[in-house]
Amino acid sequence: MSKKQLIRRLEELEKLTGRLALDIWKNPQIAYEETYASTVQKELLADAGFRLTDSVGDMETAFYAEYGEGYPIIGILGEFDALPGLAQSTKPYKDPVHANKPGHACGHHLLGTAGVEAVLALKQLIDDGQLTGTIRYYGCPAEEVLSGKTFMAREGVFHDLDCCLTWHPGTSNVVQNFSSQAMISIKYRFHGIPAHAAGAPHAGRSALDAVEIMNIGANYLREHLVDGTRIHYAITNGGQAPNIVPDEAEVWYYLRGANREQVEDMLARMHDIAKGAALITGTTTSHELLANCYHMLTNDTLNTLNYRNMENFPMQRFTSDEVAYSSILRKSMDPKLIEASRTELKLDSNDILPTKNFYDLSAKEKTMPGSTDVADVSWITPLASISTTCGPIGTQVHAWQATAVFGTSIGLKGMHYAAKIMALTAYDLFSEPALVEQAKTEFQQATADKPYRSGLDESVLAPGAVRKEQLI
Ligand SMILES: [Zn+2]
Repeated sequence: MSKKQLIRRLEELEKLTGRLALDIWKNPQIAYEETYASTVQKELLADAGFRLTDSVGDMETAFYAEYGEGYPIIGILGEFDALPGLAQSTKPYKDPVHANKPGHACGHHLLGTAGVEAVLALKQLIDDGQLTGTIRYYGCPAEEVLSGKTFMAREGVFHDLDCCLTWHPGTSNVVQNFSSQAMISIKYRFHGIPAHAAGAPHAGRSALDAVEIMNIGANYLREHLVDGTRIHYAITNGGQAPNIVPDEAEVWYYLRGANREQVEDMLARMHDIAKGAALITGTTTSHELLANCYHMLTNDTLNTLNYRNMENFPMQRFTSDEVAYSSILRKSMDPKLIEASRTELKLDSNDILPTKNFYDLSAKEKTMPGSTDVADVSWITPLASISTTCGPIGTQVHAWQATAVFGTSIGLKGMHYAAKIMALTAYDLFSEPALVEQAKTEFQQATADKPYRSGLDESVLAPGAVRKEQLI
């Protein structure tokens, strides 16, 4: 009876949250600058009676909002940052509304808003006396640079949770029973001596030479790393003009591996390469750690609950107009990528907006090639994530097609479905504490000799963060 009431409440909220998601989609802001999304979500939740804790970890856009009292404390993670340069209208062909402006090509306007929808619906059941406990929504900045939640985690704001739920927009309804890669984001800087490149090159020491030698060292390192590890870099400062020996240069690295031990081993070797490059070129080197996130830990108990709710409450089918829109959008996509996704999920070629649910038990041993700061939370409390169909099979996130479709009714349908499943699973946890304890026992066994350890020491600050002590 009460689950029906919960669904009714979710359906009542759909207009409001649909408007909220599209409002954020129309006002995209990149990592650590998401003041618009953060403010509108905070206002809505505060007006609904949630208690607000603002500027978590000295980050202006990080917050959490909670309702209810006592055990269990169930968290729902939201995100809202956009990606630079991926602005696009909802047209199913390339139509960048504002050149070089950000766009919601990872669907985080949906991601955060689904969480808001879920907690607002659960609040109603707490008010009605049907559920007891605390529901807490986390507004998490800067997932795209893989660090917002790691700074929040360092503040300890996830440590009292009993369980935590989240999701991500995708192209199918999947229980995310797989890991993600641990990752370190770091900038190496080299400091040399400027000189006239023709008149007095002997007087100069080139910081750019050091960057280039460091990159050669890193490329040779690849051969001697564990399979599946990844090193990517971009030269973010290579000097100003060819006739000046560059005295400052910078290279930005991402190091990825199946677990934290692998990436920290890579980091130690990269530090040595940087020192070597400095020695060879007569320069000095320094570095700045920007992010250090875990690989994901899955939880069978929570995954099973999510899947059961997905099977019991199937996704609404898409309309013929939504299928027609998707068919046009897919004309701009790589047919090989579409085919690969279709084959992986064993879908018919005409099933372009799939509504069936997938839970691959064998995926537990797999690591998806990519990283997320959600993984840090998964080492603090039992956590589960799903994805839902928010775009046609073949849509790649971080591409303009994703910005387009995530701004339509297709994206909103996926968002409402994710809100429903997270709310239903939270409902199960509130009403059956034995399930919370089962998830926690499983978590404790998996982390017994591996307590959570932040990869960021106290000297590392989030961009824009100002330590409270400095403000006094
Ligand atoms: Zn994302």
